[in-house]
Amino acid sequence: MDKTAGFEVSGVRIGGKEPIIIAGPCTVESEEQTLTVARAVKAAGIKVLRGGAFKPRTSPYSFQGLGEEGLKILKTARDETGLLIQTEVMDARQIDLVCRYADILQIGTRNMMNYSLLKAVGEVRFPVMLKRGFMAKVEELLLAAEYIIKGGNERVFLCERGIRSFDDSTRFTLDLAAVPLIKKLSALPIVVDPSHATGRADLIIPMSLAALAAGADGVMVEVHPWPKKALCDGLQSLSLDMFGEFVKKVSAMIQFLASHNQEQ
Ligand code: PEP
Ligand code: MN
Repeated sequence: MDKTAGFEVSGVRIGGKEPIIIAGPCTVESEEQTLTVARAVKAAGIKVLRGGAFKPRTSPYSFQGLGEEGLKILKTARDETGLLIQTEVMDARQIDLVCRYADILQIGTRNMMNYSLLKAVGEVRFPVMLKRGFMAKVEELLLAAEYIIKGGNERVFLCERGIRSFDDSTRFTLDLAAVPLIKKLSALPIVVDPSHATGRADLIIPMSLAALAAGADGVMVEVHPWPKKALCDGLQSLSLDMFGEFVKKVSAMIQFLASHNQEQ
């Protein structure tokens, strides 16, 4: 495997020359909600749809996701649009089930240090996006990734999604310096999730542009057709209008960086 050029997932290169965009609802809530977003994502020329069926919620009283029913909705979206599906696996016992529906497994911030889950995911031949624990150092993130790779699963990419700091003006603190730092320390691709990092839809575009300028291999954002009615993370979800603006600005940045890098 050419580590400097990332890897491919069904024809989509992660960590290659062109940054990747991953977009979709925080949580699969209904077929209508997910298909509405999937169609917008597809129309924007994006290749990967995200959406949670198993949700790691802080409160056990909050909506926990639709489980397998949510995975089936993602499959419907995949069948209609051809988008690759990225969805979270929270527990080693869910891996077989999730792999039946997903193209990319996601390990969430709360599970970055769940070493038995990391080992179990190392045993499957499925690409994995590993999110940085919100209390984890960069070194701990890189070592967590090693757990997966050591099992023989080399198609791992990382996600900086904000860390907890003294400042709660934003939901977490986006550690953008981690991006060029990880580029120096590791060959693993790294994407940035400004939705969870900031918790605010109005900060997603500027932080996405900053992430790409800092050298990120992509960005992942949450999109909801009706953010005010979202069952999870509505405040940090782009409406479809904002998503249109996001696509315009991010595409311009990707083009600019491509021509800038060619000149170098
Ligand atoms: C998510 O991306 O759906 C998610 C739950 O994010 P995090 O694990 O970073 O909180
Ligand atoms: Mn979310």
